[in-house]
Amino acid sequence: MTEPGGGSDLANLKTTAVRDGDDWIINGSKTFITNGGSADLVLVAARTSPEKKAKGISLFAVDTTLDGFSVGRVLDKVGQDESDTAELAFEDVRVSGADLVGPLDTGFISMMQFLPQERLGSAITNLAHARQILEETVQYAKDRQAFGQPIGAFQNTQFLLADLVTRVDVTQAFVDQCVLAHNRKELTPVDAAKAKWWTSQVQNDVLDHCVQVHGGYGYMNEYRVARAWRDARVTKIWAGSNEIMKMLIGRDLGL
Ligand SMILES: Cc1cc2nc3c(=O)[nH]c(=O)nc-3n(C[C@H](O)[C@H](O)[C@H](O)COP(=O)(O)OP(=O)(O)OC[C@H]3O[C@@H](n4cnc5c(N)ncnc54)[C@H](O)[C@@H]3O)c2cc1C
Repeated sequence: MTEPGGGSDLANLKTTAVRDGDDWIINGSKTFITNGGSADLVLVAARTSPEKKAKGISLFAVDTTLDGFSVGRVLDKVGQDESDTAELAFEDVRVSGADLVGPLDTGFISMMQFLPQERLGSAITNLAHARQILEETVQYAKDRQAFGQPIGAFQNTQFLLADLVTRVDVTQAFVDQCVLAHNRKELTPVDAAKAKWWTSQVQNDVLDHCVQVHGGYGYMNEYRVARAWRDARVTKIWAGSNEIMKMLIGRDLGL
């Protein structure tokens, strides 16, 4: 989806697919594509009817061995070391009509239909990462001594950890409710947006405090909390930025 010129305004994407007999010729570029540097197949959103804005976008499955496809830079990220994130270029990439995914010009609708599921998936992992590191931090607070006592015995640490555990548990209740709704095929895009932005904010807040409880060790990559903190920052940006999530919620309020 995302292009160098912008990711939030999906309907404005510039990559084109032009019909040539039974084939399509794709031109354009994408950026920030997770596993783009190692993919055998990429799903590409391209403009098939330029005059129709959001209603003129289609999805194509593109074999990355085709002529004209290339991977640009594999980007140097702050966190999320487990995956590559790459720029992709399409120069007259010829795909067949069979590579069109779904009906012509319905790509935007498909993306809107499935993005709530991606956002719910993000919400689940955001919270799981926060919870795991928080549990490790509670243990650290019991083990680490300062001024002759465990740092968890200081009231400040107790109150902080109580606050964080509460935030995670209360957030979990909403996420679980969304999972059940999704299983019934009733999850609304607005509730998915709420779950996505809220969990990423909770995750970032919790992990920042967890780094603090770890003191200097919290800033060392050998401690899982440090990596989790680095990894967390992007969750407020990807899968639709938190500002875009709030825009969706605001629209639902009739604003
Ligand atoms: C590590 C990583 C992996 C990613 N993986 C993928 C992937 O696999 N596939 C893919 O398609 N994309 C992927 N992305 C892209 C990601 O979805 C975009 O970065 C995101 O949607 C934001 O787009 P942008 O970076 O172009 O920011 P922009 O759209 O330029 O936005 C910049 C800032 O302006 C704000 N903003 C924009 N519009 C509005 C508005 N209307 N109101 C208020 N604020 C606004 C945004 O919230 C943001 O804070 C990935 C990004 C990262 C960092």
